[in-house]
Amino acid sequence: MSEKTAQLPENILEVTDLCKYFRVSRKATLKAVDHVTLTIRRGETLGLVGESGCGKTTCGRTMIRLYNPTSGTVKFNGVDISSLSGKRLLEFKKNAQIIFQDPYASLDPRMTIGEIISEGMNVHFNYSDKEKTDRVNDLLNKVGLAQDYANRFAHELSGGQRQRIGIARALAVDPQFIVCDEPISALDVSIQAQVVNLLIKLQREFKLTYLFISHDLSMVKHISDRVGVMYLGNLVELATNLELYDRPLHPYTKALISAIPTADPDGEATRQRIKLEGEVPSPINPPEGCRFVQRCKYACDRCRQETPKIREVKPNHFVACHRCEELENES
Ligand code: SF4
Repeated sequence: MSEKTAQLPENILEVTDLCKYFRVSRKATLKAVDHVTLTIRRGETLGLVGESGCGKTTCGRTMIRLYNPTSGTVKFNGVDISSLSGKRLLEFKKNAQIIFQDPYASLDPRMTIGEIISEGMNVHFNYSDKEKTDRVNDLLNKVGLAQDYANRFAHELSGGQRQRIGIARALAVDPQFIVCDEPISALDVSIQAQVVNLLIKLQREFKLTYLFISHDLSMVKHISDRVGVMYLGNLVELATNLELYDRPLHPYTKALISAIPTADPDGEATRQRIKLEGEVPSPINPPEGCRFVQRCKYACDRCRQETPKIREVKPNHFVACHRCEELENES
């Protein structure tokens, strides 16, 4: 943890105008991530939410160079990651890890759990066999599993246990930043809270920064300091957890939040759900102007012609909507 010191910039990650497009045919391009700008502060958890296919996973993967961006920049600790190669790229890969969505597919069935956890150590550290065994045992302990799991194989484990191995594997190389890519969506509901609470505990212990990607808004609220909302490749709102859930300003965020069930029976009885009409348009052929225009009941001519840029509407509250102030004053 020698680099986790005071000289590092406050923002661990600065993403500017990031685009990631995929050519799907000779004539068609899928704009999975389109002009996303955001920062992630050291030590925080930034939640990233949105419906399936909104680009949140592609955004997370491009931030750690699993995909090369089509355009735009990602700076990690102040350094543009596209400029990295050789040892500096290896150092970045060590510092920026990922926990994958599917704990069934992300662990090699031919390797023991000990081999899976220590794979990254072999690349980044010069441990003796004894040091490696001790480290694996320690990591198993940290994620709540007994040492004898080191000799087992992934197929012998439950989904929750496999995801704990995914977490131990990410921690094994002593990272600063972890993309948690829908880490609970493949798990039973009863296990999801355990895994999220484990992530919170480990974040405190290892001073980690997380990007927590999920479509589960309740879980994102539980774990995140700030939350970004994506729609069809665009970041449409970004605010602190409290502000976003209590005073959402973008019509899409309002609809998402209105769909969250409450634990209080009285609140649940009076909850007014905003129903979104229509399907999410294809990111291959998104609408002109605001991407949300076809589903937004507040759309006006300007919305059909001009793409709203994300801007700071209130301190630390960013929104991409032409009419958000007007709509807030009306409500
Ligand atoms: Fe709705 Fe217009 Fe705002 Fe887009 S810019 S969310 S269409 S009001």
